[in-house]
Amino acid sequence: MTDTAQDLRSRAAALDAADPLAEHAAAFVREGDVVSYLDGNSLGRPLASLPERFAGFVGHDWGTRLIRGWDEQWMARPFELGDRLGALVGAAPGQALVGDSTTVLLYKLVRAAVDAAIAADPARTEIVIEDDSFPTDRFVVQGIAAERGCTVRWLEVDRAAGATLEQVGAALSERTALVLLCHVAYRSGFVADVPGITRAAHAAGALVLWDLCHSAGVIPTELDAWGVDLAVGCTYKYLNGGPGSPAFAYVRAEHQGALAQPIQGWMGAADVFAMGARYEPAAGIRRFASGTPPVLATVALEAMVELLERVGVSAAHEKSVALTGFAEAALAQHVLPLGARLVSPPAGPHRGSHLTVAHPAFRDVTARLWERGVIPDFRAPDGIRIGLSPLSTTFAEVLVGVEAIGEELRRSAA
Ligand SMILES: *Cc1c(COP(=O)(O)O)cnc(C)c1O
Repeated sequence: MTDTAQDLRSRAAALDAADPLAEHAAAFVREGDVVSYLDGNSLGRPLASLPERFAGFVGHDWGTRLIRGWDEQWMARPFELGDRLGALVGAAPGQALVGDSTTVLLYKLVRAAVDAAIAADPARTEIVIEDDSFPTDRFVVQGIAAERGCTVRWLEVDRAAGATLEQVGAALSERTALVLLCHVAYRSGFVADVPGITRAAHAAGALVLWDLCHSAGVIPTELDAWGVDLAVGCTYKYLNGGPGSPAFAYVRAEHQGALAQPIQGWMGAADVFAMGARYEPAAGIRRFASGTPPVLATVALEAMVELLERVGVSAAHEKSVALTGFAEAALAQHVLPLGARLVSPPAGPHRGSHLTVAHPAFRDVTARLWERGVIPDFRAPDGIRIGLSPLSTTFAEVLVGVEAIGEELRRSAA
């Protein structure tokens, strides 16, 4: 073993010992064969308190309150939980709701924004989006463009970075209806300039929709202060809501009255139980709801929101910065000398909470890593993505994982 490999072990131990959030790692389920979980940005670990919470929900809330539960608490739940999630991303109450998947909420908000833009000015028919955006974002936009006769303006982004203010500025015009971008790029982890791009879009008369899937819960976000119009985000990544937990949407208060979403359902109607002949949208954020909310699927999310309210997103972000910095040092020692490249931004304001390294052998390497309980994820064509979910990840765990990537890559080369 070289001195530096030993140094990294001492450094991991020292960082874990000094970590003010270290106690929280033990609050998550850590059983089974996994020795290094580096995929909390795709599916966060469950909190260890969940069996008790689910038992309470089934035994009490659902089991004893039965249908009365809707009036007592569940009808309000998408908006109460929305307000709490909103507070974590800088939104005052009354502007966020929980429900549907990210994909469905994207559809609703992109359609609402594009329809409003075209109604105000029939020449505003362009949607600006990254050509390397997450697939569902691109597919939703392509579908809506076909439905509404819009043009998609693709930004050709650097795969190791993301959309820049200059690129967006060059794509904006009096034809732009909507700019849909990711706060943190799912591939590289690049953090976009949300306030700058939002201002530029507004100067061109366009609305902006930010996808917060890879930033919610880990990157400090100020939706109200930054002037953001619309946002969506998922809750099973850094918000540990569990597989398929519902997404959230933010609609700035001043836009709510002017936007009509396309999936009209009874839960978004002005009087839900009037059983009226015609759809009349509710005032406020509730008009963006459609059907019965997925209450059961919010039990784990609520537990994580409580934890984040106590810890604070900025403390989580501080640890994320320390984890990504440490992961970078470990990669420099164990993986980059074997011919892999770091395809993520350098430390600083454009770095999110995951790092991607690229090497042609990584598809096979990832399969072998998963067999030995080291779990990063693989993103085609050649990227290993190392997600660093701050509350549930230890520095020692990061080092174990990066050492294993190096070992398996060496084995591929042999
Ligand atoms: C994870 C993710 C999604 C997920 O969409 P679902 O509808 O929840 O499957 C969407 N957009 C981005 C940028 C993501 O990272």
